[in-house]
Amino acid sequence: MGNLNCPKCDNASLDANGVCVNCGYVLRLICPKCAHTNSVKARFCGFCGTGTSVSIRIKKEIRSRVSYVARMRIKHFATGLAFGTLLALFAFGAMP
Ligand SMILES: [Zn+2]
Ligand SMILES: [Zn+2]
Repeated sequence: MGNLNCPKCDNASLDANGVCVNCGYVLRLICPKCAHTNSVKARFCGFCGTGTSVSIRIKKEIRSRVSYVARMRIKHFATGLAFGTLLALFAFGAMP
């Protein structure tokens, strides 16, 4: 579980069970398909089986953020490589 904030007191993190360590609020997941209330730990809806888990969504978000960082790194790397090649060309071009 990541750092989910309690929607009730809004200043404490929820533990792995979706329980607020500060006020005791229990996070429940409502299935977007059938509106069945599931526990946070449930990976799939207990009624219709739809994958509604917050952890799945968090994992997806983390994955997209990681790929964004990776893309930025590749971009920076490519820029550095192009700059290095340019410098090398200048250096060789300046040679007598
Ligand atoms: Zn709370
Ligand atoms: Zn459902």
